[in-house]
Amino acid sequence: MSAFATALVLAAGSGERLGAGVPKAGVDLGGRALLAWSLDALGRAVCVDAIIVVGDERALAPALASASREARARLKAVVPGGATRQESCGLGLAASAQAARVVLVHDAARPFAEPGLFDLVAQAALEHGAALAAEPLTDTLKRVEGGRVVATIERAGLWRAQTPQAAWREWLIEAHARARAEGVTATDDVALLERLGRAVQIVLAPTVNRKITTPEDLAWAEAWLRARSLGSGGAR
Ligand code: C5P
Repeated sequence: MSAFATALVLAAGSGERLGAGVPKAGVDLGGRALLAWSLDALGRAVCVDAIIVVGDERALAPALASASREARARLKAVVPGGATRQESCGLGLAASAQAARVVLVHDAARPFAEPGLFDLVAQAALEHGAALAAEPLTDTLKRVEGGRVVATIERAGLWRAQTPQAAWREWLIEAHARARAEGVTATDDVALLERLGRAVQIVLAPTVNRKITTPEDLAWAEAWLRARSLGSGGAR
């Protein structure tokens, strides 16, 4: 596989729910900034030849500096984010090169996406137009109104969407432009493609590719890193 994808790493927003007083992407995880974990994985992904970080360049400077040499060599731009995740993604997309066949979108808030996951999602998008990392739900879902259960949602067929997500660049550009023009906001990128009737492929992703949102998530991530390091004889 040769490189054909540009990766947007969304690292803007304050991360208020984490309460760390620094942008979420700059928060320390295992001695490195949250953002550096994703950058390093993207530095090793075979499909990626360009990385664009969306966020505050000054605030993220230490995180960018701590990324691997391979990741930094692929870093083409750092562009300021927008008021929403969708806006930040649109700004990153606008900064991507026209020659990119596939654009991968990844939340810096998911530090444990492996290079192989980026490659699988990008390859599925290259072949089919759009793809996302996701996992089947293991919980039973309840619809609740006024503190009372009004329905149980059949779990079969329900998946939890993650990032990376990827699509042909022209599909993403069109989907974002249409959403902007029509005042539509979605919490993930493939939702904007789905509303245009585009088929989106699923790539089975591990639960460990979890989004770090709250202090509890961060504590879990630290514990998971410790367990992983013990399991591999202390090596990272
Ligand atoms: O806030 P939430 O956890 O949904 O953010 C998901 C991802 O989107 C994070 O990596 C965050 O840095 C990014 N984001 C962004 N611009 C915003 C809000 C969030 O790039 N305005």
